[in-house]
Amino acid sequence: MRRPDDAELRLVGQAVSALRRATGHPSRSAAVRTEDGEVVTAVSLGPTVCAEAAALGAALSRGTKAVTLVAVRHLSDDATRVSAPCAGCRQLLKTYAPGIRVVHLNDGLRVSGVDGLPPV
Ligand SMILES: [Zn+2]
Repeated sequence: MRRPDDAELRLVGQAVSALRRATGHPSRSAAVRTEDGEVVTAVSLGPTVCAEAAALGAALSRGTKAVTLVAVRHLSDDATRVSAPCAGCRQLLKTYAPGIRVVHLNDGLRVSGVDGLPPV
């Protein structure tokens, strides 16, 4: 586990921007950086389709590997917080993006593999 680098901090901002501009009042968004440096964002669709899964699927559709993921959720209308993926998304990440790094909160922003995330 380590602190995020500049690109990973920018990815947090890109996830926050996606959540703020989204229509439909989603509760969460996710941003994925791919191996070729592109950033793909997605938002949650109700309680059943996680932003992380949507962003991962969109990233893979580009024919490249997903290397970094961050998810954020609304705390209130004005505030957001980085949020770790749910158990189901962790399994999806292990299956479809082994080796992916996840930005999460653990006494400040930290970056680790899926296995280094705090318990769900
Ligand atoms: Zn999930």
